[in-house]
Amino acid sequence: MAEKVLIIGSGPAGLTAAIYAARADLDPLMIEGMERGGQLMLTTEVENYPGFPEGIMGPELMDGMRKQAERFGTRIVSSDVSKVDLSERPFKVWVGGDLYESETLIVSTGASARWLGIPGESRLRGYGVSACATCDGFFFRDREIAIVGGGDSAMEEAIFLTKFASKVTILHRRDEFRASKIMAQRAIDHPKIEVLWNTTIDEVLGDDLVTGLRVKNVNTGEESMLPVEGFFLAIGHDPNTKIFQDQLDLDAAGYVVTNGGFTRTSVEGVFAAGDVVDHYYQQAVTAAGMGCQAAIDVEHWLDRTEA
Ligand code: NAP
Repeated sequence: MAEKVLIIGSGPAGLTAAIYAARADLDPLMIEGMERGGQLMLTTEVENYPGFPEGIMGPELMDGMRKQAERFGTRIVSSDVSKVDLSERPFKVWVGGDLYESETLIVSTGASARWLGIPGESRLRGYGVSACATCDGFFFRDREIAIVGGGDSAMEEAIFLTKFASKVTILHRRDEFRASKIMAQRAIDHPKIEVLWNTTIDEVLGDDLVTGLRVKNVNTGEESMLPVEGFFLAIGHDPNTKIFQDQLDLDAAGYVVTNGGFTRTSVEGVFAAGDVVDHYYQQAVTAAGMGCQAAIDVEHWLDRTEA
Protein backbone atom coordinates (compact mmCIF):
# COMPACT_ATOMS: atom_id res chain seq x y z
CA MET A 1 0.00 0.00 0.00
CA ALA A 2 1.18 3.52 -0.75
CA GLU A 3 2.54 5.69 2.05
CA LYS A 4 0.56 8.78 3.02
CA VAL A 5 3.68 10.94 3.07
CA LEU A 6 7.26 10.27 2.11
CA ILE A 7 9.96 12.78 3.07
CA ILE A 8 13.20 12.98 1.09
CA GLY A 9 16.09 14.53 3.00
CA SER A 10 16.91 14.75 6.70
CA GLY A 11 18.12 18.25 7.51
CA PRO A 12 16.14 20.56 9.80
CA ALA A 13 13.36 20.93 7.18
CA GLY A 14 12.85 17.18 6.62
CA LEU A 15 13.09 16.22 10.28
CA THR A 16 10.72 18.96 11.41
CA ALA A 17 8.28 17.89 8.70
CA ALA A 18 8.62 14.31 10.01
CA ILE A 19 7.92 15.35 13.61
CA TYR A 20 4.78 17.23 12.58
CA ALA A 21 3.58 14.58 10.13
CA ALA A 22 4.12 11.80 12.68
CA ARG A 23 2.23 13.70 15.37
CA ALA A 24 -0.58 14.25 12.85
CA ASP A 25 -0.84 10.45 12.51
CA LEU A 26 0.40 10.40 8.92
CA ASP A 27 2.94 7.65 9.68
CA PRO A 28 5.74 9.28 7.61
CA LEU A 29 8.52 7.43 5.87
CA MET A 30 11.78 9.34 5.55
CA ILE A 31 14.56 8.57 3.09
CA GLU A 32 17.33 10.32 4.95
CA GLY A 33 20.17 10.04 2.45
CA MET A 34 23.73 8.90 2.99
CA GLU A 35 24.72 12.34 4.32
CA ARG A 36 22.07 12.36 6.96
CA GLY A 37 21.40 15.52 8.93
CA GLY A 38 22.44 17.81 6.10
CA GLN A 39 24.80 20.74 6.33
CA LEU A 40 24.60 21.06 10.12
CA MET A 41 26.55 17.82 10.36
CA LEU A 42 29.49 19.82 8.95
CA THR A 43 29.37 22.66 11.43
CA THR A 44 30.77 22.67 14.92
CA GLU A 45 28.90 24.76 17.45
CA VAL A 46 25.45 26.20 16.66
CA GLU A 47 24.77 29.22 18.85
CA ASN A 48 21.78 30.75 17.08
CA TYR A 49 19.24 27.93 17.23
CA PRO A 50 16.66 29.10 19.77
CA GLY A 51 16.33 27.04 22.92
CA PHE A 52 20.00 26.26 23.43
CA PRO A 53 21.39 29.18 25.46
CA GLU A 54 24.79 27.52 25.78
CA GLY A 55 24.87 26.54 22.09
CA ILE A 56 24.79 23.01 20.75
CA MET A 57 27.01 21.04 18.38
CA GLY A 58 25.46 20.76 14.89
CA PRO A 59 25.49 16.93 14.82
CA GLU A 60 24.00 16.80 18.34
CA LEU A 61 21.15 19.10 17.28
CA MET A 62 20.40 16.92 14.26
CA ASP A 63 20.58 13.77 16.39
CA GLY A 64 18.03 15.28 18.75
CA MET A 65 15.67 16.14 15.87
CA ARG A 66 16.05 12.63 14.47
CA LYS A 67 15.26 10.99 17.82
CA GLN A 68 12.24 13.28 18.19
CA ALA A 69 10.99 12.25 14.73
CA GLU A 70 11.48 8.56 15.58
CA ARG A 71 9.80 8.95 18.96
CA PHE A 72 6.52 9.69 17.18
CA GLY A 73 6.91 6.81 14.77
CA THR A 74 8.80 8.14 11.73
CA ARG A 75 10.34 5.24 9.84
CA ILE A 76 13.76 6.05 8.42
CA VAL A 77 15.60 4.53 5.44
CA SER A 78 19.32 5.39 5.46
CA SER A 79 20.05 5.56 1.74
CA ASP A 80 19.96 8.00 -1.15
CA VAL A 81 16.99 8.23 -3.50
CA SER A 82 18.16 7.20 -6.93
CA LYS A 83 15.12 8.11 -9.05
CA VAL A 84 11.61 9.50 -8.75
CA ASP A 85 8.56 9.42 -10.99
CA LEU A 86 6.13 12.23 -10.21
CA SER A 87 4.02 11.84 -13.35
CA GLU A 88 1.11 10.21 -11.51
CA ARG A 89 -0.09 9.38 -8.00
CA PRO A 90 0.93 7.50 -6.03
CA PHE A 91 4.38 8.94 -6.69
CA LYS A 92 7.21 6.46 -7.18
CA VAL A 93 10.51 6.78 -5.34
CA TRP A 94 13.36 4.36 -5.94
CA VAL A 95 16.15 3.68 -3.50
CA GLY A 96 18.47 1.49 -5.53
CA GLY A 97 16.29 -1.49 -6.49
CA ASP A 98 13.61 -0.78 -3.83
CA LEU A 99 10.45 1.02 -4.92
CA TYR A 100 8.38 3.11 -2.50
CA GLU A 101 5.02 4.64 -3.39
CA SER A 102 3.41 7.59 -1.68
CA GLU A 103 0.32 9.80 -1.99
CA THR A 104 2.35 12.91 -1.11
CA LEU A 105 6.01 13.88 -1.06
CA ILE A 106 7.99 16.42 0.90
CA VAL A 107 11.20 17.38 -0.88
CA SER A 108 13.77 18.61 1.63
CA THR A 109 17.02 17.64 -0.03
CA GLY A 110 18.75 20.92 0.86
CA ALA A 111 21.60 22.67 -0.85
CA SER A 112 25.30 22.12 -0.67
CA ALA A 113 27.84 24.89 -0.27
CA ARG A 114 30.34 25.03 -3.09
CA TRP A 115 33.89 24.27 -2.09
CA LEU A 116 37.09 24.99 -3.94
CA GLY A 117 38.46 21.45 -3.70
CA ILE A 118 41.98 22.59 -2.79
CA PRO A 119 44.42 20.83 -0.46
CA GLY A 120 43.80 21.48 3.24
CA GLU A 121 40.24 22.67 2.72
CA SER A 122 38.30 19.59 3.80
CA ARG A 123 40.87 18.50 6.40
CA LEU A 124 40.56 21.84 8.21
CA ARG A 125 36.78 22.18 7.84
CA GLY A 126 35.48 23.16 11.28
CA TYR A 127 39.04 24.04 12.35
CA GLY A 128 39.24 27.46 10.73
CA VAL A 129 37.63 26.63 7.37
CA SER A 130 33.91 27.34 7.12
CA ALA A 131 31.26 27.94 4.49
CA CYS A 132 28.94 29.66 6.96
CA ALA A 133 29.90 33.07 8.32
CA THR A 134 26.65 33.38 10.29
CA CYS A 135 27.43 30.10 12.06
CA ASP A 136 31.12 30.44 12.71
CA GLY A 137 32.09 34.15 12.54
CA PHE A 138 31.77 34.51 16.28
CA PHE A 139 34.78 32.23 16.87
CA PHE A 140 37.16 34.67 15.16
CA ARG A 141 37.12 37.60 17.55
CA ASP A 142 40.21 39.81 17.02
CA ARG A 143 41.64 37.39 14.42
CA GLU A 144 42.67 38.04 10.84
CA ILE A 145 40.58 36.05 8.40
CA ALA A 146 39.92 35.75 4.66
CA ILE A 147 36.84 35.09 2.59
CA VAL A 148 36.65 33.97 -1.03
CA GLY A 149 33.92 35.09 -3.44
CA GLY A 150 32.71 38.14 -5.28
CA GLY A 151 28.91 37.88 -5.01
CA ASP A 152 26.40 39.42 -2.61
CA SER A 153 26.96 36.62 -0.10
CA ALA A 154 30.70 37.28 0.05
CA MET A 155 30.09 41.03 0.56
CA GLU A 156 27.42 40.51 3.18
CA GLU A 157 29.44 37.90 5.02
CA ALA A 158 32.67 39.90 4.85
CA ILE A 159 30.88 42.87 6.42
CA PHE A 160 29.29 40.61 9.04
CA LEU A 161 32.68 39.12 9.87
CA THR A 162 34.15 42.57 10.61
CA LYS A 163 32.07 42.55 13.80
CA PHE A 164 34.42 39.93 15.14
CA ALA A 165 37.62 39.83 13.12
CA SER A 166 40.35 42.46 13.34
CA LYS A 167 40.80 42.27 9.56
CA VAL A 168 38.92 40.57 6.71
CA THR A 169 40.58 40.01 3.36
CA ILE A 170 38.26 39.32 0.41
CA LEU A 171 39.91 37.18 -2.23
CA HIS A 172 38.34 37.39 -5.66
CA ARG A 173 39.44 35.68 -8.85
CA ARG A 174 38.57 38.66 -11.10
CA ASP A 175 39.05 42.44 -11.01
CA GLU A 176 35.41 43.31 -10.35
CA PHE A 177 32.73 41.98 -8.05
CA ARG A 178 29.58 40.23 -9.25
CA ALA A 179 27.76 41.65 -6.21
CA SER A 180 25.32 44.55 -6.45
CA LYS A 181 27.12 47.89 -6.58
CA ILE A 182 25.89 49.09 -3.23
CA MET A 183 26.97 45.91 -1.42
CA ALA A 184 30.32 45.87 -3.20
CA GLN A 185 31.01 49.51 -2.38
CA ARG A 186 30.08 49.00 1.25
CA ALA A 187 32.64 46.21 1.48
CA ILE A 188 35.35 48.08 -0.42
CA ASP A 189 34.91 51.18 1.77
CA HIS A 190 34.96 49.27 5.05
CA PRO A 191 38.03 50.14 7.12
CA LYS A 192 38.53 46.54 8.30
CA ILE A 193 38.22 45.01 4.80
CA GLU A 194 40.98 44.64 2.25
CA VAL A 195 40.37 43.23 -1.23
CA LEU A 196 42.90 41.12 -3.10
CA TRP A 197 41.76 41.17 -6.74
CA ASN A 198 42.71 38.60 -9.38
CA THR A 199 43.63 36.16 -6.66
CA THR A 200 43.12 32.42 -6.47
CA ILE A 201 43.81 30.13 -3.54
CA ASP A 202 45.97 27.07 -4.03
CA GLU A 203 46.10 25.63 -0.51
CA VAL A 204 44.82 26.07 3.02
CA LEU A 205 47.78 25.85 5.39
CA GLY A 206 47.88 24.56 8.98
CA ASP A 207 48.31 21.32 10.91
CA ASP A 208 45.39 21.31 13.38
CA LEU A 209 44.11 24.85 12.80
CA VAL A 210 44.29 27.23 9.84
CA THR A 211 47.45 29.33 9.84
CA GLY A 212 47.33 30.80 6.35
CA LEU A 213 46.56 30.47 2.66
CA ARG A 214 48.82 29.95 -0.31
CA VAL A 215 47.50 32.43 -2.87
CA LYS A 216 48.37 33.38 -6.42
CA ASN A 217 47.90 36.54 -8.46
CA VAL A 218 46.45 35.28 -11.73
CA ASN A 219 47.90 38.17 -13.76
CA THR A 220 51.48 38.02 -12.58
CA GLY A 221 51.59 34.36 -11.49
CA GLU A 222 53.20 35.54 -8.27
CA GLU A 223 52.59 33.25 -5.30
CA SER A 224 52.48 34.36 -1.69
CA MET A 225 51.38 33.24 1.75
CA LEU A 226 48.52 35.12 3.42
CA PRO A 227 48.64 34.59 7.18
CA VAL A 228 45.04 34.15 8.47
CA GLU A 229 43.42 32.08 11.20
CA GLY A 230 40.09 31.68 9.46
CA PHE A 231 39.05 30.98 5.87
CA PHE A 232 35.43 31.41 4.79
CA LEU A 233 33.93 30.33 1.50
CA ALA A 234 31.09 32.28 -0.08
CA ILE A 235 31.19 31.04 -3.65
CA GLY A 236 27.54 30.02 -3.79
CA HIS A 237 25.41 26.97 -3.05
CA ASP A 238 23.95 24.34 -5.33
CA PRO A 239 20.49 22.95 -4.59
CA ASN A 240 20.25 19.16 -4.48
CA THR A 241 17.62 18.81 -7.19
CA LYS A 242 19.23 16.61 -9.82
CA ILE A 243 16.66 13.83 -9.39
CA PHE A 244 13.78 16.31 -9.84
CA GLN A 245 14.92 17.84 -13.11
CA ASP A 246 12.16 17.66 -15.73
CA GLN A 247 9.66 16.64 -13.03
CA LEU A 248 9.28 19.75 -10.85
CA ASP A 249 9.47 23.40 -11.84
CA LEU A 250 12.93 24.63 -10.87
CA ASP A 251 14.25 28.19 -11.17
CA ALA A 252 17.27 29.12 -13.29
CA ALA A 253 19.63 28.21 -10.44
CA GLY A 254 17.94 24.83 -9.90
CA TYR A 255 15.93 25.65 -6.74
CA VAL A 256 12.42 24.19 -6.43
CA VAL A 257 9.74 26.78 -7.19
CA THR A 258 6.94 26.89 -4.61
CA ASN A 259 3.66 28.70 -4.61
CA GLY A 260 4.33 31.98 -2.71
CA GLY A 261 3.96 31.51 1.02
CA PHE A 262 2.98 27.84 0.73
CA THR A 263 5.15 24.82 0.19
CA ARG A 264 3.19 23.53 -2.82
CA THR A 265 5.30 22.79 -5.90
CA SER A 266 4.30 22.59 -9.56
CA VAL A 267 3.07 19.00 -9.01
CA GLU A 268 -0.13 18.50 -6.97
CA GLY A 269 0.73 16.52 -3.84
CA VAL A 270 4.44 17.35 -3.91
CA PHE A 271 5.65 19.87 -1.33
CA ALA A 272 9.10 21.32 -0.73
CA ALA A 273 10.83 22.96 2.22
CA GLY A 274 14.18 24.26 3.39
CA ASP A 275 17.29 25.22 1.48
CA VAL A 276 16.16 23.31 -1.62
CA VAL A 277 13.61 26.12 -2.01
CA ASP A 278 15.26 29.02 -0.24
CA HIS A 279 18.56 30.40 -1.49
CA TYR A 280 18.22 33.55 0.57
CA TYR A 281 17.93 32.86 4.31
CA GLN A 282 19.51 29.40 4.43
CA GLN A 283 19.27 29.04 8.20
CA ALA A 284 18.48 25.93 10.26
CA VAL A 285 15.65 27.69 12.00
CA THR A 286 14.05 28.96 8.76
CA ALA A 287 14.37 25.49 7.20
CA ALA A 288 12.75 23.93 10.27
CA GLY A 289 9.91 26.46 10.00
CA MET A 290 9.30 25.54 6.38
CA GLY A 291 9.39 21.84 7.26
CA CYS A 292 6.57 22.46 9.72
CA GLN A 293 4.64 24.35 7.02
CA ALA A 294 5.12 21.49 4.55
CA ALA A 295 3.76 18.89 6.99
CA ILE A 296 0.72 21.06 7.70
CA ASP A 297 0.22 21.66 3.96
CA VAL A 298 0.38 17.88 3.38
CA GLU A 299 -2.13 17.23 6.15
CA HIS A 300 -4.60 19.75 4.71
CA TRP A 301 -4.06 18.47 1.17
CA LEU A 302 -4.74 14.86 2.22
CA ASP A 303 -7.86 15.97 4.12
CA ARG A 304 -9.16 17.75 1.04
CA THR A 305 -8.23 14.97 -1.38
CA GLU A 306 -9.62 12.13 0.72
CA ALA A 307 -12.82 14.01 1.56
P1 NAP B 1 26.87 34.16 -6.64
O1 NAP B 1 26.16 35.44 -6.91
O2 NAP B 1 26.74 33.04 -7.59
O3 NAP B 1 28.43 34.53 -6.50
C1 NAP B 1 29.38 33.55 -6.34
C2 NAP B 1 30.75 34.23 -6.36
O4 NAP B 1 31.72 33.24 -6.08
C3 NAP B 1 31.10 34.89 -7.69
O5 NAP B 1 31.72 36.13 -7.47
C4 NAP B 1 32.06 33.88 -8.31
O6 NAP B 1 33.09 34.50 -9.08
C5 NAP B 1 32.71 33.25 -7.10
N1 NAP B 1 33.11 31.88 -7.40
C6 NAP B 1 32.32 30.85 -7.81
N2 NAP B 1 33.05 29.72 -7.95
C7 NAP B 1 34.32 30.07 -7.65
C8 NAP B 1 35.55 29.37 -7.61
N3 NAP B 1 35.62 28.07 -7.92
N4 NAP B 1 36.67 30.02 -7.26
C9 NAP B 1 36.62 31.34 -6.91
N5 NAP B 1 35.50 32.07 -6.93
C10 NAP B 1 34.36 31.44 -7.28
O7 NAP B 1 26.47 33.52 -5.22
P2 NAP B 1 26.05 34.25 -3.85
O8 NAP B 1 26.92 35.40 -3.57
O9 NAP B 1 25.95 33.14 -2.85
O10 NAP B 1 24.58 34.77 -4.15
C11 NAP B 1 23.55 33.88 -4.55
C12 NAP B 1 22.26 34.68 -4.81
O11 NAP B 1 21.75 35.22 -3.59
C13 NAP B 1 22.54 35.88 -5.73
O12 NAP B 1 21.42 36.06 -6.55
C14 NAP B 1 22.66 37.04 -4.76
O13 NAP B 1 22.34 38.30 -5.34
C15 NAP B 1 21.64 36.63 -3.67
N6 NAP B 1 22.03 37.25 -2.38
C16 NAP B 1 21.54 38.48 -2.11
C17 NAP B 1 21.88 39.12 -0.92
C18 NAP B 1 21.34 40.47 -0.62
O14 NAP B 1 20.76 41.08 -1.50
N7 NAP B 1 21.46 40.96 0.59
C19 NAP B 1 22.76 38.50 -0.03
C20 NAP B 1 23.27 37.24 -0.36
C21 NAP B 1 22.90 36.63 -1.55
P3 NAP B 1 32.79 35.20 -10.50
O15 NAP B 1 32.13 36.49 -10.15
O16 NAP B 1 34.15 35.35 -11.09
O17 NAP B 1 31.90 34.24 -11.24
